[in-house]
Amino acid sequence: MSQLRRNLLVTGAFVGLGMSLGLGVSGRARASEYQSNWRWCRRCQALFWGGRGGGLCRMGGPHDGSASANYIVATSERAPGQPGWRWCHHCHSLYLPVGDTRGVCVHGGEHGIESSASYRLSAGADAPGQHPWRWCRVCQCLFYAGSSAVAPCAGGSVHDPSQSGDYGLLSID
Ligand SMILES: [Zn+2]
Ligand SMILES: [Zn+2]
Ligand SMILES: [Zn+2]
Repeated sequence: MSQLRRNLLVTGAFVGLGMSLGLGVSGRARASEYQSNWRWCRRCQALFWGGRGGGLCRMGGPHDGSASANYIVATSERAPGQPGWRWCHHCHSLYLPVGDTRGVCVHGGEHGIESSASYRLSAGADAPGQHPWRWCRVCQCLFYAGSSAVAPCAGGSVHDPSQSGDYGLLSID
């Protein structure tokens, strides 16, 4: 069994845990356990944090969050979901490391891990919030897979959701 496959199985165990804890949480999420101002980029489909500008988009320049809701992502250990998601201080996207692999960043090389909290996301058909958000196995970012627009990936042509769970994302407006 490859290292990647092993890590995905471990990840899957956490997804299961998140699902069981996540049921019934919708509608009573505590604000202190979530960070707001996460935005969907209409150009590359990735989720990025808008609190420090637009970061770096695969399409050139900063991400474009102008058509996005105000998404919230859990930061507390008490919140439900799969832990270990990180914010990249280069491109400002949310990504999930797999072992020592941190995915392809627009900045060049792998995503940065400095200054990031450990974020949590809930997965599964019952996860509260908007679907379908997916993990790209190449850039390892979270992206919205429900758009008919092309979803350009920093690691190649388009994002690859083939090994992703079905993530749900909460928003507050
Ligand atoms: Zn973008
Ligand atoms: Zn990055
Ligand atoms: Zn990608």
